Amino acid sequence: MSARNGVVETFLELVAIDSPSGDEAAIAEYVCRRLKAHGVDYEKDNFGNIIARRGAGDSLVLSAHLDTVEPGRGVRAIMQNNTIRSDGKTVLGADNKAAIAAILEVMEQMPVADGVAVEAIFTLGEEAGNLGARNLDYSLLRSREGFCFDSSNPLGTIITGAPFYERFDIAIMGRAAHSSRPEEALNLLPLVGELLGKLSLGAIDKDTVANIGMVTAGVARNVVPGEAHLAGEVRSFSGQGINDYLAAVEDIVRHVPGDSCKMTRERENEGYVLSADDPLLRSTEETVRAAGFTPLLKRTWGCADNCIFREKGLNVLNLGYGARRIHTTEEEIRVDELGGLVDIIQALVHKRRRVVTRS
Ligand SMILES: [Zn+2]
Repeated sequence: MSARNGVVETFLELVAIDSPSGDEAAIAEYVCRRLKAHGVDYEKDNFGNIIARRGAGDSLVLSAHLDTVEPGRGVRAIMQNNTIRSDGKTVLGADNKAAIAAILEVMEQMPVADGVAVEAIFTLGEEAGNLGARNLDYSLLRSREGFCFDSSNPLGTIITGAPFYERFDIAIMGRAAHSSRPEEALNLLPLVGELLGKLSLGAIDKDTVANIGMVTAGVARNVVPGEAHLAGEVRSFSGQGINDYLAAVEDIVRHVPGDSCKMTRERENEGYVLSADDPLLRSTEETVRAAGFTPLLKRTWGCADNCIFREKGLNVLNLGYGARRIHTTEEEIRVDELGGLVDIIQALVHKRRRVVTRS
């Protein structure tokens, strides 16, 4: 059976395994069992990520994540007109099982000892904040560059940029009291209103978006709230964009009278923007075209595992795996997209062989 033919069956087996974030033991076991059955070497790092290798020498990263979002238990895949969906009660899990299936098929059927090596990384907890990628034991890796397939965009998509991302929290302290004794309270709600009125939110500029996603205060209807909390985030394709925005927020917070307002911030991940002449981008475009797809270059507002890989010094691009409406119960992927993903991965591996042979 060719890798292209096997991919649908493998995909259907994968989606039948429950694997919400934090609950990846069963799917990890499936992947390890498959690798073992096909004589592919693999190991797990201390976090539980799986690293599989085939071939010797300078290798290429192929990466996918093992977890899915909820509702993701008891998935029943239904195929209709060559499109695979769930029964409408759960997500399908094409994010990211389409990529797991394609990588497994390619790796298992790859001729060994023909001058190319592949290092597959199957991570845990991507949906829970790239936990696997953050905790991966990078000392185990032999590769310097490669691809992850975690963009739910048409096949041929190459993600050329992802944002820097920082969280910030603002705590506003007042004094709580029963509603019948307002004179004992220090009501902070006017302050919260004032603060929200001063913050710039939404699209800050063409590269930067900011949001306050949660405003929490109070414990009961009959109590003047003693504490409020704003949970915010800012994303920008420029690190400077984030710093400028948060400096402005800090300035607003600093000018709140008294000592009632405190702000903390934490950088979650670095972003990247590829230049148009980036060598890996250029060669990937060529490969995608040679595999019969139209390269579609776009940047994304989300952070995939490859952002973390890049922070750690691995030159990994994120590519489209097809599929639509991921993270919803209407998620779907077509059979030809699964086959096409195999074609693209095989072309990337084959290209690598040519590069390696030449040098
Ligand atoms: Zn994903």
